Amino acid sequence: MSSSPDSAMTRRDSVGVRIGAVLIGSAAPVVVQSMTNTDTADVVASTRQIAELSRSGSELVRLTVNNAEAAAAVPRIRDRLAMMGVEVPLIGDFHYNGHQLLADEPAAAEALAKYRINPGNVGFGRKKDSQFAAIIETALRFAKPVRIGANWGSLDQNMVATLMDENHARSEPWSAARVAREALIRSALDSAARAEQLGMGRDQIILSCKVSGVQELIAVYRDLAARCNYALHLGLTEAGMGSKGIVASTAALAVLLQEGIGDTIRISLTPEPDESRTREVIVAQELLQTMGLRAFTPMVTACPGCGRTTSTLFQELAKSVQEHVRAKMPEWRIKYDGVENMTLAVMGCIVNGPGESRHADIGISLPGSGESPAAPVFIDGQKAMTLRGDNIAMDFIAVVENYVAGKYQGRGSA
Ligand code: SF4
Repeated sequence: MSSSPDSAMTRRDSVGVRIGAVLIGSAAPVVVQSMTNTDTADVVASTRQIAELSRSGSELVRLTVNNAEAAAAVPRIRDRLAMMGVEVPLIGDFHYNGHQLLADEPAAAEALAKYRINPGNVGFGRKKDSQFAAIIETALRFAKPVRIGANWGSLDQNMVATLMDENHARSEPWSAARVAREALIRSALDSAARAEQLGMGRDQIILSCKVSGVQELIAVYRDLAARCNYALHLGLTEAGMGSKGIVASTAALAVLLQEGIGDTIRISLTPEPDESRTREVIVAQELLQTMGLRAFTPMVTACPGCGRTTSTLFQELAKSVQEHVRAKMPEWRIKYDGVENMTLAVMGCIVNGPGESRHADIGISLPGSGESPAAPVFIDGQKAMTLRGDNIAMDFIAVVENYVAGKYQGRGSA
């Protein structure tokens, strides 16, 4: 049966920021976002990937706007997405020349729902302040919010030098790591204060301070969260590839989310060659769902299998059930309100199978080694039937479909 955590986590108070139809911060649920890795100037490829990310559940999609061709492509991408019925807000990622690109391509400034500014590389020397101001003024003109995103890898070196000087004057100097952390936070907060001086409201500013180390990220965000009430974008930058990237991101973000810190998240995974970019969206959703913060897709509980599992049938069934529910979600989400909260269990033998199955909305316990070749199915905690034969996987998926149609029928919004 579906369950919810006994104790609700208390979210940090933050000022809500509206990005298109999506609210970030305040009391809104934590928002999942992602970023493309196509050449933005390639309108066809970028549109296709944004649509794919959106359909997989990304609620905002960021894309780099790094040159005139990319800026010119943005409104064309927006139009193509609209023709496909994809309304996901687009965020422009600007570095060095953002002020110029936004001035030269007002259609891009209009088509984007938010601008991301990196205070460490918005400009150099004396131009830094004027170029930052130019982006903020464009954002104000087009009524767009901004994310001021400081990053460990592009830290404002003037800020670092200033803080190093301050540190030398301390009777008990801070560690170099603490000074660097302070530089990152100060860079974001000072830039936000400057944006407010230029006319932005707090309801138009999101902050992030990304680093690539788990403990550093936790320390930075705890500090940042205590010092401001801006909505916060959370992410471990350059998390890496495969399980390392997933584990590192999850380790850092779970601690912060548990403390109520973070209003929107991105998992910065390096995709394997030919791997879909949607992996980062799925990981973000699974992180939020397994923590009980949001529900996106029915969750499948499966045992790890052991010497008692007699064949690959158990692994194949667990995989096919997980893939089936994820593939059906775009359709189910429209037809069946609440189906994302459904829980399923696929268990390998009688040891924990019936017990775990009873705790799920629907569970199946496959026969283990030496057990009778029958698979009892439990629905809403009661044994409902026993599946036998060569088509247990297909039969079980049919049971799931019937359950969804029966339980959630008529509860959808369309
Ligand atoms: S439920 Fe059975 S098959 Fe699965 S891990 Fe436990 S003992 Fe092994």
